[in-house]
Amino acid sequence: MDAPTAAAKRLKEAGLRPTRFRERTLEALWATDAALSHKDLVSRLPDLDRVTIFRCIKQLRKSSLLHKVRGTDGVSRFVANRTSGSSCPGNHPHFFCLSCGALTCLEGLRLPHLELPTGFEVRGKQFLVEGICPGCAQGRATAAGPDEKETSS
Ligand SMILES: [Zn+2]
Ligand SMILES: [Zn+2]
Repeated sequence: MDAPTAAAKRLKEAGLRPTRFRERTLEALWATDAALSHKDLVSRLPDLDRVTIFRCIKQLRKSSLLHKVRGTDGVSRFVANRTSGSSCPGNHPHFFCLSCGALTCLEGLRLPHLELPTGFEVRGKQFLVEGICPGCAQGRATAAGPDEKETSS
């Protein structure tokens, strides 16, 4: 018998039956640090049906194996949750690059705790920072000319 893949183990831990489709979707998300949209996943898994991928995303999200982030362009993107047993997956701000459209998890940062009025029940939080990512900022600096040096006054 083949040893179960890491993805299969993770799916089992989350209480999901490890199907090939779920494994492939999870592995595609693990393969990158970037947040992937449904369209990105479809192009990375060309042999899978787009509806199948959509279903896998839904199931993985329900089982807290990934979290969803929406960019200011309105497109939902998905990131695999790295740590297991986190009570609030995706409980961190995200950075949206206005230049390349990359969405990055700012996992080291905590979301502010909001003291809501009585009666309001929190189901999720979205905190999106928009700007220019390091990669694009570097590209700009290079484009500005190699002669230009940063001066620390
Ligand atoms: Zn960028
Ligand atoms: Zn995230």
